[in-house]
Amino acid sequence: MKTAILEKNTELSRLLNRLTQGDNADECLTCGICNSRCTWFDQPGGPLPRQIVRMAVLGLEQELVDSQMLWDCLICNRCTQDCPMGIDMDQVVIRARSLAASKDQIPEDIRKGIQNRLELGDVNGLTKEDFVDTVEWIAEEFADDMEDPNALIPHDQSDCKFLYLPNPRELGVNLMHLTAMAKLFYAMGETWTLSSDHTDVTNWGYFVGNDDVEKQIARRVVETAEALNIETLVLSECGHAYHVLKCRVAKLLGREPGFSIVSIPELCLEYANKGVLKFDPQVHPYDIAYHDPCNIARKSGGYDAPRQLLAMCCNGVRELVPNRENGICCGGGGGILQDSSTTKKRMITGKPKADQMRATGLKHLATACLSCHRQLGELSTHYELGMKVDTVAALASESVIL
Ligand code: SF4
Ligand code: SF4
Repeated sequence: MKTAILEKNTELSRLLNRLTQGDNADECLTCGICNSRCTWFDQPGGPLPRQIVRMAVLGLEQELVDSQMLWDCLICNRCTQDCPMGIDMDQVVIRARSLAASKDQIPEDIRKGIQNRLELGDVNGLTKEDFVDTVEWIAEEFADDMEDPNALIPHDQSDCKFLYLPNPRELGVNLMHLTAMAKLFYAMGETWTLSSDHTDVTNWGYFVGNDDVEKQIARRVVETAEALNIETLVLSECGHAYHVLKCRVAKLLGREPGFSIVSIPELCLEYANKGVLKFDPQVHPYDIAYHDPCNIARKSGGYDAPRQLLAMCCNGVRELVPNRENGICCGGGGGILQDSSTTKKRMITGKPKADQMRATGLKHLATACLSCHRQLGELSTHYELGMKVDTVAALASESVIL
């Protein structure tokens, strides 16, 4: 049997000790509360959070870097929400992943996505020319749909009130979602723009623990927005981007950005509360359940705005149980959704969420993250739940009164 010796002078200890939170892994009581709360629950092959912490504390760095647990963890932080020692699992795992990343031991799809993001500004490799062509094409369709030549989808305009940062899915498989967001800006009656210099809200540097990449991407977003002289950066529905740009950006850059940052559901709620946006709930005459994206809810405290907006756009909002800070990850977090080799595994990681969805007895579910949206839709199909999954902003767009 291998004997581990408590070793505090390892690279991982150094990285953990650099943190202001989650820096006390060596205070772990081995109580196992985290194991009992892991999103994977009793699913086969899941990570064992207590074991991850013990491996980090005991200096079993290479073993941890080589362990599949490192990439199976969804960095959802459900396990350590109630840790008596306040250890943050996402920080432990992200620091351990940073060691793996420094040895180029990261899933191939994520490595390629980061390379695309740094070279082209888009994880899917969309070029600036492709972006402009796509936007100008859907802008024509949008003006026709609105029957108004002044209904615009602008790009690269300075001095607008808003810069909208889309999710890469909105420029690929979910093009209709970008048009739906344009309808919301049109209804607000404010100036807005996209940027062909920065077309992608995501920041995969965050979940692989590559601080330099995370900083580079965040800095490019901020500098692009500042160069365009906008008032507010509006984020597409994306969980980890929300967490990075709302909670981490000032620390990453060493300063506050020169503009405010909101997500599109938060902005819609603000304009609804001001009486500018009005919604017809009869467009969605049914009760709908809301799924909390871990990065927006538990990790950033963004619980209420999506629920309040949904309540204006549908018959009623119902809760999954458990929810809010105790919510269960969709099973696609931490980069697992971005790794195309994990499709089967994601149906296992998502089983507890699928059970929750079924237990509502409802036919409709909404969330405020396009990654969760994809995973939840796939769960509905795989587990034959018959549940239609939408995003909050898409429902708002369908029910907004023009
Ligand atoms: S809940 Fe906290 S203290 Fe308990 S085993 Fe997990 S990491 Fe250690
Ligand atoms: S998947 Fe979530 S709950 Fe499980 S170990 Fe990772 S962070 Fe903790």
